[in-house]
Amino acid sequence: MSDGGVPEGTFWTIKVIRPIMVQMHGLDPSAVAINDAVMDDATIPVSSYAPVRRVEPLRCPQCGADRDWTAFGAWTDPVRLVCPAGHSWTPWEGAPARGRALMQELILASGIEESRG
Ligand SMILES: [Zn+2]
Repeated sequence: MSDGGVPEGTFWTIKVIRPIMVQMHGLDPSAVAINDAVMDDATIPVSSYAPVRRVEPLRCPQCGADRDWTAFGAWTDPVRLVCPAGHSWTPWEGAPARGRALMQELILASGIEESRG
Protein backbone atom coordinates (compact mmCIF):
# COMPACT_ATOMS: atom_id res chain seq x y z
CA MET A 1 0.00 0.00 0.00
CA SER A 2 1.53 3.29 -1.04
CA ASP A 3 0.13 6.25 0.79
CA GLY A 4 0.72 9.71 -0.63
CA GLY A 5 4.30 9.04 -1.68
CA VAL A 6 5.65 7.88 1.68
CA PRO A 7 8.48 5.46 0.92
CA GLU A 8 7.60 2.27 2.76
CA GLY A 9 11.09 0.91 3.22
CA THR A 10 12.43 4.03 4.89
CA PHE A 11 13.53 3.95 8.51
CA TRP A 12 12.59 7.21 10.14
CA THR A 13 14.22 9.19 12.91
CA ILE A 14 11.88 11.96 13.95
CA LYS A 15 12.43 14.64 16.55
CA VAL A 16 9.19 15.35 18.37
CA ILE A 17 9.60 18.51 20.42
CA ARG A 18 6.04 18.76 21.67
CA PRO A 19 4.17 16.31 23.89
CA ILE A 20 2.50 13.48 22.03
CA MET A 21 -1.16 13.61 23.00
CA VAL A 22 -2.92 10.27 22.92
CA GLN A 23 -6.26 8.91 23.98
CA MET A 24 -6.06 6.98 27.20
CA HIS A 25 -8.21 4.10 28.25
CA GLY A 26 -11.02 5.00 30.57
CA LEU A 27 -13.06 8.10 30.97
CA ASP A 28 -12.15 11.58 32.12
CA PRO A 29 -13.78 11.86 35.57
CA SER A 30 -14.21 15.65 35.34
CA ALA A 31 -15.92 15.33 31.95
CA VAL A 32 -18.19 12.63 33.33
CA ALA A 33 -19.14 14.98 36.17
CA ILE A 34 -19.85 17.80 33.70
CA ASN A 35 -22.03 15.49 31.60
CA ASP A 36 -23.94 14.34 34.66
CA ALA A 37 -24.65 17.96 35.51
CA VAL A 38 -25.75 18.68 31.93
CA MET A 39 -28.01 15.65 32.01
CA ASP A 40 -29.58 16.76 35.27
CA ASP A 41 -30.38 20.25 34.00
CA ALA A 42 -32.75 20.21 31.03
CA THR A 43 -32.09 23.90 30.30
CA ILE A 44 -28.50 23.27 29.20
CA PRO A 45 -28.21 22.42 25.50
CA VAL A 46 -26.88 18.98 24.67
CA SER A 47 -23.87 20.55 22.94
CA SER A 48 -22.51 21.30 26.41
CA TYR A 49 -21.53 17.67 26.81
CA ALA A 50 -17.80 17.36 27.27
CA PRO A 51 -15.73 14.73 25.50
CA VAL A 52 -15.15 11.98 28.03
CA ARG A 53 -12.20 10.28 26.41
CA ARG A 54 -9.09 11.19 28.33
CA VAL A 55 -6.33 12.72 26.24
CA GLU A 56 -2.93 12.84 27.88
CA PRO A 57 0.67 13.19 26.79
CA LEU A 58 2.74 10.04 26.51
CA ARG A 59 5.24 9.89 29.35
CA CYS A 60 8.50 8.04 29.65
CA PRO A 61 7.84 5.15 32.05
CA GLN A 62 11.25 5.63 33.62
CA CYS A 63 11.60 9.39 34.14
CA GLY A 64 8.19 10.84 33.27
CA ALA A 65 9.43 13.03 30.43
CA ASP A 66 6.60 14.04 28.12
CA ARG A 67 8.36 15.88 25.29
CA ASP A 68 11.56 16.17 23.27
CA TRP A 69 11.15 12.64 22.00
CA THR A 70 13.07 10.97 19.30
CA ALA A 71 10.85 8.52 17.46
CA PHE A 72 12.26 5.62 15.46
CA GLY A 73 10.61 3.23 13.08
CA ALA A 74 9.53 2.42 9.58
CA TRP A 75 6.09 3.15 8.14
CA THR A 76 4.93 -0.35 9.06
CA ASP A 77 6.65 -0.51 12.49
CA PRO A 78 5.20 0.29 15.89
CA VAL A 79 6.91 3.48 17.05
CA ARG A 80 9.90 3.32 19.36
CA LEU A 81 10.47 6.40 21.49
CA VAL A 82 13.58 7.69 23.18
CA CYS A 83 13.16 10.37 25.83
CA PRO A 84 15.64 13.23 26.40
CA ALA A 85 17.37 11.15 29.09
CA GLY A 86 17.96 8.35 26.62
CA HIS A 87 15.36 5.84 27.85
CA SER A 88 14.06 3.78 24.99
CA TRP A 89 10.57 2.31 25.09
CA THR A 90 7.75 1.13 22.94
CA PRO A 91 4.32 2.45 23.90
CA TRP A 92 1.46 -0.08 23.81
CA GLU A 93 3.72 -3.06 23.49
CA GLY A 94 0.70 -5.30 23.67
CA ALA A 95 -1.09 -3.40 20.91
CA PRO A 96 1.27 -2.97 17.94
CA ALA A 97 -1.49 -1.53 15.76
CA ARG A 98 -1.64 1.49 18.02
CA GLY A 99 2.11 1.98 17.93
CA ARG A 100 2.03 1.67 14.16
CA ALA A 101 -0.73 4.25 13.85
CA LEU A 102 1.28 6.68 15.98
CA MET A 103 4.42 6.06 13.93
CA GLN A 104 2.52 6.89 10.75
CA GLU A 105 1.03 9.98 12.35
CA LEU A 106 4.47 11.21 13.38
CA ILE A 107 5.93 10.54 9.92
CA LEU A 108 3.17 12.51 8.28
CA ALA A 109 3.44 15.31 10.83
CA SER A 110 7.19 15.53 10.65
CA GLY A 111 7.32 17.10 7.24
CA ILE A 112 9.08 13.93 6.18
CA GLU A 113 12.57 14.33 7.50
CA GLU A 114 14.41 11.24 6.46
CA SER A 115 17.04 9.55 8.55
CA ARG A 116 20.48 9.63 7.03
CA GLY A 117 22.25 7.37 9.40
ZN1 LIG B 1 13.08 8.79 30.34
